[in-house]
Formats: sequence, C-alpha cells, structure tokens
Amino acid sequence: MPLYVYEAVDPGKGCEKCRAGFETTQSINDPKLVKCPDCGAEIYRVIQAPGLGRSKTDLHYRAKRAGFHTLKRVNKGEYEKMY
Ligand SMILES: [Zn+2]
Repeated sequence: MPLYVYEAVDPGKGCEKCRAGFETTQSINDPKLVKCPDCGAEIYRVIQAPGLGRSKTDLHYRAKRAGFHTLKRVNKGEYEKMY
C-alpha cells in the first residue's frame, strides 16, 4: 500500500498532527482525505518520494513538479470570484 503524506491547508487551523503533516497508508483506490481525522481541518495530500527528508520546501517543490496544484486552484478560485 502506498504511503501518503497529508498536511493542513491552513496550518493555523490544524491540530498538532496535521500542522506538522502526517503519514498514512491508503489503497490506490481509496479517495484521498480532505479533512484531518483528528480535528477536521482541511488537509491536502503531499506527493512524497520514498526516503525524502522532512524538508517542507523540498516537499512542496516535488509536489508542484508532480502536478499537484490544490493550493493554486484554491487561489485561482478566489480570484475568479472577484470578476
Ligand atoms: Zn488535525
């Protein structure tokens, strides 16, 4: 089973667990989590390569390269509402 890393979208709202990011194993067919199972804060899935360190910059850089644009989409949506 693949190991996924989740992190709070807004670290100010998350609990200790999702603020720092947490790992969970899921089947490839399982829907991805959108809320922290502990506090219910919005979370997003970070693409993580095996053996990667806990560097946030590196995680986000890799997530972008893997085409993970959840945060960008949120920002774009907010923009679109302004027009
Ligand atoms: Zn949480």
